[in-house]
Amino acid sequence: MKRFDYNEISPDGCIGKGREIAAKGGNWHFHSLSKGCSFNPRPEFNAFLIEDVDADVNYCAFCQEDFTPHCKELVVILHGDSVIEAAAIDPNWEAPPIVQAIEDCLAKKEAWHHHMMKPGCILSPNPKRHVISLERGSSTDIAYHDEDTDPLETLRAIEVMYFASR
Ligand SMILES: [Zn+2]
Ligand SMILES: [Zn+2]
Repeated sequence: MKRFDYNEISPDGCIGKGREIAAKGGNWHFHSLSKGCSFNPRPEFNAFLIEDVDADVNYCAFCQEDFTPHCKELVVILHGDSVIEAAAIDPNWEAPPIVQAIEDCLAKKEAWHHHMMKPGCILSPNPKRHVISLERGSSTDIAYHDEDTDPLETLRAIEVMYFASR
């Protein structure tokens, strides 16, 4: 369980809030924090966290339903339509270990989820970098992958696997 300050909003308000912050053109992002997620501040619920990094304000919604539809709608606003398109994956691109670890989870039918921690992220172990984390059922350790710049190729490979498995 992770503690951070947030303003609670309704699950129905998440997409509007994401769009509203995105429209300002600043630094923002969101996370789906499921019941099993190490970062969920209220793990009896599924949580959805939106970080307005520029304003230094966080918003959280909680419910028993899954936030996957919210993720799918907001991830393309944040990273562009191609972030969920399998056809956009470069066949010559060499997958880093975090992508191989997720392929291993899928092969073993092991639960997994990831978080894209952009610079300024309150959950990030290294908020100056672009970090992607992986939590998997067989381990309580969190794996981290980080890059200097927006890791779009890595994120695309992961998002395509994530939405295909849900
Ligand atoms: Zn998590
Ligand atoms: Zn974050």
